[in-house]
Amino acid sequence: MNNPTPPDPPSLPGIPQPGSASNANDIRCRSCHVLWSQDQWTKDCPECGGAAMEIACLICGGKCGRTWKRMLMDSWDESQAHWLGGCGLPEDEQKQIIEASRQS
Ligand SMILES: [Zn+2]
Ligand SMILES: [Zn+2]
Repeated sequence: MNNPTPPDPPSLPGIPQPGSASNANDIRCRSCHVLWSQDQWTKDCPECGGAAMEIACLICGGKCGRTWKRMLMDSWDESQAHWLGGCGLPEDEQKQIIEASRQS
């Protein structure tokens, strides 16, 4: 399970990381093996699903300012990203967004 050259982490605008330098609690994608705990993810990997441990609200695309957290067990079990969270926008606005995205 050697991984001599880890891929470069994508340069995302700074999400502050808690300052523990230990890698004892590394959490990685089982499909592409990037370190989610290091804020790495792979673009085309369904298990990464477009983010590492947190993703901007999937309903409104982050307009509400909320982030959803990765559900690790489900993501691993199904090799597909699962997120836990809710949209902070009023329900009316959420419905509009959802309906608009269905039509496209
Ligand atoms: Zn992945
Ligand atoms: Zn939202």
